[in-house]
Parts: sequence; C-alpha cells; structure tokens
Amino acid sequence: MAHIYDYAIIGSGLTGLSVAAALSRETKNVVLLDGLDHAFGANRQINFPTGPINNGIRFVPDSVLSEKALGFLENLLGQKVIADVSDEAPVTYDSGNFKTFLGFGENPPAFWEELSYFTSSKRIDLQLQPFQWTQMLLEKFTGEFMPRSYVTKFQQEGERITSVTVNGSKTVHAQNFIFAGAVRDLSLLLPEDAISQRARAKLGKNSYWTALCLDICHSKAVTESTAMHVLNGTTQDEIGPCAGRFMPAVEVDGNMIQASQWITFIETEVTDDSEVVGMTLKKIKRQIKRAYPEALDDVKLERIFVSPYIAGNGDLKLSANKTIPNLENLWVASAPLSEQKNLVGALLQAEMIVASLGFKVEEAAVSEAPAEEFSEATM
Ligand SMILES: Cc1cc2nc3c(=O)[nH]c(=O)nc-3n(C[C@H](O)[C@H](O)[C@H](O)COP(=O)(O)OP(=O)(O)OC[C@H]3O[C@@H](n4cnc5c(N)ncnc54)[C@H](O)[C@@H]3O)c2cc1C
Repeated sequence: MAHIYDYAIIGSGLTGLSVAAALSRETKNVVLLDGLDHAFGANRQINFPTGPINNGIRFVPDSVLSEKALGFLENLLGQKVIADVSDEAPVTYDSGNFKTFLGFGENPPAFWEELSYFTSSKRIDLQLQPFQWTQMLLEKFTGEFMPRSYVTKFQQEGERITSVTVNGSKTVHAQNFIFAGAVRDLSLLLPEDAISQRARAKLGKNSYWTALCLDICHSKAVTESTAMHVLNGTTQDEIGPCAGRFMPAVEVDGNMIQASQWITFIETEVTDDSEVVGMTLKKIKRQIKRAYPEALDDVKLERIFVSPYIAGNGDLKLSANKTIPNLENLWVASAPLSEQKNLVGALLQAEMIVASLGFKVEEAAVSEAPAEEFSEATM
C-alpha cells in the first residue's frame, strides 16, 4: 500500500516552508516537494566576497501588516527578526546631485506598483535576513523533504485531490495538499474540470512581471549611504528606472570592499529575449556609473538573477477557507494571492492558510538572534 501523508506541500520557498514549519508542530507525516535540488526558493543564501547575502535585494517597508507578517515569522522561529524601524527617504541622482526621491510625477513606469514597494521611507531593519529565515524554517520542519520532485499534475476523485504526479511518473498520496508554487501554474496542474475554462484562461492572462536583479561586489568602498536609490537615467525609455542600495563596506584581506544590489522589472513575455535583458542590465550599470563614476572600476564580482512571474496579481477566486472551490483539500498558499506583496505577502498568505487548516501558531518566547554567529555557522 502506498504511504499516505497527512499533508503534501508543493514548493519549499518562504511560503511553503512557513506552512511546513507550522504543521511540524502538529504532525511529522508531512512531505515537502520541490522541483529544485534545494529548498528555499528565491530566498537562498549566496556566498559573496563580502559574506553571505540574499539572492537579490530584499527590502521590507514598515507597515502594520509587515509587522504582523514578521510577528508570525518570529513566532515560528522563536527568534527576533526585526532589529529596528528606520525612517530614511529614498534618494535619486539628478543634475549632478543626490536628491530626495519624490516620485515620477506624470511619467511613472508601467511597473510602478512593483517598484514603489522599494521607495517607502519607513523600513524594517532586519536582524535575521530572509536567507536565514528559510534555513531556520527548514530546520524546524520535521517531515520529509523531497528535492528534485516537480509536481506535474494533481489527481482528483470527486471533490478531493488524492495524489500528485511527481516528475511525470511517481505518485505521492496525501490527505491534504498545500500549493505554494507559482499560482499561474495551476492552470496546467489542475485536472481538466477542477476550475472553469474562464478561471483557467484568467490565470494565464494575468499580468506578471519578471524581476531582473544585479548584485555587484565593488573593489572599493563606494558610499556610506544606506538609503534606497531610485535611479532613472536621463532619458525616459521603455526600460525604465531601477532601485537598489549599498550594503556596509567590509574589510577583506586588508582591502575595503562593498556589495550593492539592484532591481528592475521587465515584462514576463520578454524574459527570454537576451537582447532586452542585456539592454536592461546595461542601463542599470549606466545609471550606477552616472551617480558613482568609479563604482564599476575593477568590479570584483557581479551576478545576475532573473526571476519570472515574481510580481503581479494571481487572480484566482478561492472558497471561504482558502481552498480551490469544489476541491475541499487543496489550499493555495501562493504569495501573489495575498493583497500584500513580496515577503510580507508570502508570510501573510502562509499564516492565513495555517489558520484555515485549523492551526494557530501560538506566540512563542522570542529570543534575540545572534545574527553574526548564525551567518558564520551557515556559510
Ligand atoms: C530578485 C528578487 C528580489 C526580491 N526582492 C524583494 C524585496 O526586496 N522585498 C520583498 O519583500 N520581497 C522581495 N522579493 C520577493 C520575495 O522573495 C518573494 O515574495 C518570496 O520569495 C516568495 O516566496 P514563495 O515561497 O512564495 O516563492 P518562491 O521563493 O519562488 O518558492 C517557490 C518554490 O516552489 C517550487 N515550485 C514551484 N512549482 C513547483 C511544482 N510544480 N513542483 C514542485 N516545486 C515547485 C519552486 O521550485 C520554488 O522553490 C524578491 C524576489 C526576487 C526574486
């Protein structure tokens, strides 16, 4: 007889891992499936010459909901995540000077909504970084993690999902399923009659943006500024502005070096067009160079991270308890279904699904995290 898990979670990014860690307080009979050969999704650790960093820029604007989301995470981890709340206006470079960024006036870029997330003056300073959150969540998970396990289909009997097909051949059975992958993929994964043709078409048609990230290790200290930079160049064109910031300079082998991380967005349809990607990266660099003429001399290392479907609204109507209508045991935890964006959206969606499953993550005794010690131990 095939083993039947209590819960199968599809996707081991921040959302799936948050649900997995919460369920681990209730049962060990949980399987966590991911198509990649590692957990963590977008929030994995990158080892840079300056030390471990996030996989691309991570910024959390301060708001009541951000604090709620991070409170949920702190309860899951039993550790403090928030170090402080800072008030620092974003800056831009214009006519040879840095100025407070006041917005794009009448000419906002098409992805303004995505970029504006990064332009909040109030931000949460983190004591633990997102790549550490996911590592710690995986440590809290007591079920079975199956990497290299891409879910290619759900099987349905009546109003229940009974199993998923993994890598096109293997079958994994469970009582309950939590999907924490890209919501758009549901149009391919769900059985033929599970959602209406209209809902399926709508999922495919939603507008999504691809995040284009550039992480740079500068061979010298460039600036002490900790402000978010919104750089827009001199010309308005279809590529639009980018946002980014510098991390504190560090001394390595007697030299000061500094990392900076930048983000912009392109339409998902052109993600595979190397010319558009190349042009966009070139433009980010041109903007950095204009503001900091020597910053790109003898760059030590740079990495590019292209993440399709990262932003956009995953329009899918769920039933009152967050399952797919007519499928009583398939919960959708995908972050784009949250009204909040990004990390905050991922955590709030996970919190809501955990509550819909009938569990409450009780407030834990939250201890101060020894952040430096942790990052050294996990390098
Ligand atoms: C470059 C970049 C910069 C960002 N900057 C910020 C920021 O500054 N502030 C902020 O708040 N947020 C930011 N975000 C967004 C934030 O990282 C995401 O909101 C968050 O990672 C979402 O987590 P997730 O678990 O929903 O998705 P993911 O991290 O994408 O994880 C999904 C996982 O599901 C797996 N999966 C998907 N489909 C299947 C399947 N069918 N079978 C098996 N496995 C599957 C994938 O392999 C993946 O591991 C950024 C994201 C990127 C990429």
